[in-house]
Amino acid sequence: MELAARSVQRLRAWLRLIRWQGDPNSRLWGRRCFHGVCYTPLTTQRHARHGTRERLLDVAERHPDLLRIELDALAARVLFDGQGNACGVEYLKGRHLYQAHAKPNEAPGERRQVRARREVILAGGAFNTPQLLMLSGIGPAGHLQTHGIPVRVDLPGVGRNLQDRYEIGVVNRMTQAWQVLQGARFVRDDAPYRSWFDSRDGVYTTNGVATAVIRRSGRRTPVPDIFCMALLERFVGYYPGYSKVFAQNDNMLTWAILKAHTRNRAGIVSLRSADPRDMPDIDFRYFEAADDPKGEDMRALIGAIRFVRGMAQPLAEQGFIAHEELPGAHVQSNEDLASYIRDNAWGHHASCTCPIGPRVADGVLDSGFCVHGTRRLRVVDASAFPRIPGFFPVSAIYMMAEKAADVLLAAAKATPPLQYQMGDRHGL
Ligand SMILES: Cc1cc2nc3c(=O)[nH]c(=O)nc-3n(C[C@H](O)[C@H](O)[C@H](O)COP(=O)(O)OP(=O)(O)OC[C@H]3O[C@@H](n4cnc5c(N)ncnc54)[C@H](O)[C@@H]3O)c2cc1C
Repeated sequence: MELAARSVQRLRAWLRLIRWQGDPNSRLWGRRCFHGVCYTPLTTQRHARHGTRERLLDVAERHPDLLRIELDALAARVLFDGQGNACGVEYLKGRHLYQAHAKPNEAPGERRQVRARREVILAGGAFNTPQLLMLSGIGPAGHLQTHGIPVRVDLPGVGRNLQDRYEIGVVNRMTQAWQVLQGARFVRDDAPYRSWFDSRDGVYTTNGVATAVIRRSGRRTPVPDIFCMALLERFVGYYPGYSKVFAQNDNMLTWAILKAHTRNRAGIVSLRSADPRDMPDIDFRYFEAADDPKGEDMRALIGAIRFVRGMAQPLAEQGFIAHEELPGAHVQSNEDLASYIRDNAWGHHASCTCPIGPRVADGVLDSGFCVHGTRRLRVVDASAFPRIPGFFPVSAIYMMAEKAADVLLAAAKATPPLQYQMGDRHGL
């Protein structure tokens, strides 16, 4: 009887999965938080990646009078006029000036300025927006003075509150190669590439995630916080050349675990120097105890590793999995798993370094994205969130940008453009 009930339950679950096509954002879920087996949503158009870049290129082509994209232009600071309005940006013209480039240019670049008629909007991301604000004299006064930058607004929250996920991989070697990866060398002109190019078909239409599971790390966790992705590759995070490893293995299964809604807010972005070509100093302060005294994030990650191991076990018993390569079957105790996680966890969703919030509570932006203590200067990017959103941030960033567009249009109606005379100089 119990067996029959369980079979009906499973059948219902499969039928549900087919009806909403594995999309965790399906309307069929209404306002409930999804958990269970699903696909990883993709942002694609005609089976090709489609994101901000494509949107910008499209708008620039359709409205060249409204959007001009200038490449090889490194923003160096925001310019202000005598009334304290942000009225432009100074930038360095030249190729590969930012020192994060694999082969950075040692030249200083040519200093140029552009003017804003209405506002300056920074969207440099969670690392570079706070850097740009600090280079413009907006940030923690003591820190700016250390680097000889005149203080325009003492705003201690700039660069603080850096947040990210914790991600960790459990890597299995299969006994046989994946059929779906046959011929995949991850280069132009291999067989799957030609299939994708000619008919938008095959494995290159995917992001390499076979399936995913969303779950709560604990019964009392208010929303699901664990995302486990089954990748048909050896994946242990991002580093230069990380994707080259994919071509070297065709028999790997990585359960990539992503812990969302992490407690740690202790990360910080600060200046190394007053030179805009320098990378800022970025310290995530992972697993810092202050925000998570009970170590709940670590406990959730250890639980998630045990969970994906549980899913892999039947495959190992049936001879499909040869062995677990990472962390390895010998890593079993909570202490050993914690040390594996501490040494290997990564993240790639950095956010929250210029959060919306009251100035007295280290907020950097008001609810209209304006930088506290400034005029006509806004920030619209991942740095504006007070808390890191969801599992994957770009849809939340797009929504924020839509909201900001409404705010900007309303402000444009209410505020006259800045007036300049020929020959005006700014930022002096
Ligand atoms: C490898 C990787 C994979 C990811 N995959 C996903 C995913 O699948 N799904 C998801 O939701 N999120 C993903 N993310 C996260 C997502 O890409 C980011 O959260 C998002 O792009 C942040 O948007 P943003 O507008 O804040 O900043 P960004 O997208 O980083 O945009 C900032 C822009 O400003 C430019 N810039 C910075 N400083 C200057 C300067 N001084 N002068 C001129 N230009 C400057 C930068 O070049 C960049 O183009 C991924 C991130 C990485 C690193």
